[in-house]
Amino acid sequence: MTGRTPEGTRKPPPCPICRRPAEPALAPFCSERCADIDLGRWLSDRYAIPAAEDPDDETDPPPRS
Ligand SMILES: [Zn+2]
Repeated sequence: MTGRTPEGTRKPPPCPICRRPAEPALAPFCSERCADIDLGRWLSDRYAIPAAEDPDDETDPPPRS
């Protein structure tokens, strides 16, 4: 993290999707398309686990019997 700043210019990290220079407005992505791709990945990743934004966010509510 330190002593590795080339030319002392603070460059934003490249787009994680296509490695192009990122667009500040869309950081860390270079385009809406790449942001969309990443979002898609993130969502498909989320599909594996149950929704987190539930009203009853308690840990495993006891079964009603
Ligand atoms: Zn990109």
